[in-house]
Amino acid sequence: MYKAKAYSAASATSPLASTQIPRREATEHDVQIEILFCGICHSDLHTVRNEWSSIMPTVYPCVPGHEIVGRVTTVGSAVTKFKPGDLAGVGCLVDSDHTCPNCRDGLEQLCPNQTLTFNSPDKHLGGVTYGGYSESIVVDERFVLRVPANLDLAGVAPLLCAGITTYSPMRRWGNLTGKKVGVAGLGGLGHMGVKFARAFGAYVVVFTTSPGKKEDALRLGADEVIISRNAEELQQHAGTFDFILDTIAADHDINAYINMLGRDGNITLVGAPEKPLAVSAFALLFGRRSLSGSIIGGIAETQEMLDFCGEHNITADVEVIPIQKVNEAYERLVKSDVKYRFSIDMASLKAK
Ligand code: NAP
Ligand code: ZN
Repeated sequence: MYKAKAYSAASATSPLASTQIPRREATEHDVQIEILFCGICHSDLHTVRNEWSSIMPTVYPCVPGHEIVGRVTTVGSAVTKFKPGDLAGVGCLVDSDHTCPNCRDGLEQLCPNQTLTFNSPDKHLGGVTYGGYSESIVVDERFVLRVPANLDLAGVAPLLCAGITTYSPMRRWGNLTGKKVGVAGLGGLGHMGVKFARAFGAYVVVFTTSPGKKEDALRLGADEVIISRNAEELQQHAGTFDFILDTIAADHDINAYINMLGRDGNITLVGAPEKPLAVSAFALLFGRRSLSGSIIGGIAETQEMLDFCGEHNITADVEVIPIQKVNEAYERLVKSDVKYRFSIDMASLKAK
């Protein structure tokens, strides 16, 4: 075991602050990674503030961060995929049981015995796992991703969660070429959803509560932008969408979006608001529409997404911050003031 510098929260109401955490030495199947950048996902904030207490109560101290990119420093004797000096990525998962039907189908994100990158029981050291707001991490090589060498690393980090979470449901829905696809909420997930929908050949419409994001939405690849607080504007699109990806992090009227779906249209929730959403049965019945959920993606699909990003030169649009600004970044996230992902430069952790 060794000590690593990190940022942690001591309670749901305390700011993140500098600390030291234990990390295991790399065992034979492990890869030790020096973390270069870590994205800030809204799930970090939900967890730090214990907003998901009924589903996944937070254990403190909590070290968040599951959008990790870095360089391999050490590998265990049985590791075959990586060597010291390689680039490496780690997302939301660091282990699973490898034997359940979901794992056998490459759907580790649905494994009932998965280990999340933070706030999950740690099989090696006891306590809970600690995430990427840290100088290093040690992970089983089966959960470490290869990173295309041509991409900007600060913008790669968010692909490990925001990227796969939007890529996976769009791929699963089918061929989006020529389809009318909506993306609700233009934050970290939403802006990646726009980039992927565009790359898949869809006609892309962004729903945003922030009029100031309109120009950016068009630049990111949207064909149209709708200010979602304007009910009349939404009404004009009633019954016209094939697919909508809902990335909204807070309470909202889901029926307004369901009503915009056409026959057999689907809305997939990836946003995880603290409180349940009220769904109108009639909004679903008329039009034979469906409502689904989706959570990140499996390891093989995450690698497929990273390779796709390498080929198409896709990264997140990031505002790079030093770790010392993390609490300020959280306050801005709550106000939807993010363009479009904060990416922490972990070199700042070395500064006094
Ligand atoms: P984010 O960067 O904060 O973006 C969320 C966006 O939602 C905001 O930028 C804002 O966009 C919109 N929004 C916020 N409050 C709203 C409100 N009251 N009404 C309508 N729109 C509102 O968050 P994120 O990191 O993209 O995460 C989004 C959600 O997905 C979070 O709940 C997160 O926990 C969840 N998540 C789920 C998965 C999964 O696997 N399913 C993975 C990662 C994250 P506009 O300014 O454009 O309105
Ligand atoms: Zn995330």
